[in-house]
Amino acid sequence: MTLRTFVPLVLLLATSARAERIPRIVIDPGHGGSQEGAKGPGTLQEKEVVLQIARKLRERLEKEAGAQVFLTREKDGTLPLPQRVDFANSKRPDLFLSIHANSMPTKKLRERIEGIETYFLSATASGAGARATADRENAEVSSGPSVQADSTLSFILNDLARMEAHADSSRLAYAIHQQLISATGASDRGVLQAPFFVLTGVEAPAVLIEVGYISHPHEGVQLGRAEYQEKLTSAITEGVKNFLGQVRKRDVRPAVEAPAEAEEAPAVAAPATL
Ligand SMILES: [Zn+2]
Repeated sequence: MTLRTFVPLVLLLATSARAERIPRIVIDPGHGGSQEGAKGPGTLQEKEVVLQIARKLRERLEKEAGAQVFLTREKDGTLPLPQRVDFANSKRPDLFLSIHANSMPTKKLRERIEGIETYFLSATASGAGARATADRENAEVSSGPSVQADSTLSFILNDLARMEAHADSSRLAYAIHQQLISATGASDRGVLQAPFFVLTGVEAPAVLIEVGYISHPHEGVQLGRAEYQEKLTSAITEGVKNFLGQVRKRDVRPAVEAPAEAEEAPAVAAPATL
C-alpha cells in the first residue's frame, strides 16, 4: 500500500469509528433517600418521579439512540452531589442529564406556576427564578459542611469561559427543550442558565431538566402519570438524538472546513426574564 492510499484509509477508518461509536450517557435522577426534593400533590415526591423518568429514559435511549446509559442512582438512596459528579466522570460520558422537578414556595405561586425549564451551567443565573431553583437544588451542598465543594464550585465557575463543553451544553439544552415543549404542550419557561453544583464538575455537555412543577395541582399530577412520563422521555430522547447528530456532523467535518464552525455555533442563551 502506498502512502497516498494509506492516509485516506486511516482518515476514513478514524472518521467512521468516531461516527459510529456508541454514545455514552449518564442520567442523574435528582435527590433520593433522605433528600426527598420537592413535594407534589398527595404523596408524590420529586425523588420518586425523577427516578421513574430516568428509568424510562434509559430504556428509550438504549433502544432508540443505541446509547450505553448509566444512572447515578438506581434506587431510593441518598447520594451526595460530589459523588454524582465523580460517578459521571468515571463513565466518560458524551453527555450528562440531570432530571429534576421544580416547585414554588407559596400556595399562591404553587397554584399558578407550571412549565418546563432546561438549564445549563453558568456562573450567573438568568434571573431571580433561575437563581432560586439553583439554590434549592444546591441546598444539600451549600448547607452541608463541605467547604471543599464550595471552593471547587468557584474554581470551576471562574474557569468556565474556557470550557468547550459549555457551548455544547447550550446546544444540548436547546435541542432537548424544543422537543419537550412541542411534545407536551407544557408552559415554556425557557432555556436558562444557573450555577448548579451537579453540572460544574462534569467533563461533558451537561444539562439539568426541570421536567415540570410538581407543586402545581395539575402539572404535579401529570408528572406522576406513566403516559406523561413516556411523553417526556420520548421528547428528551429526540433532543439527544438531534444533539448527537449535530456533534457527529461537526466532528467528521474535514479540518479545512473548521473555521465555518464559529458561524454555526448558537449564541449562549440571552438572559431570560422570569
Ligand atoms: Zn430537584
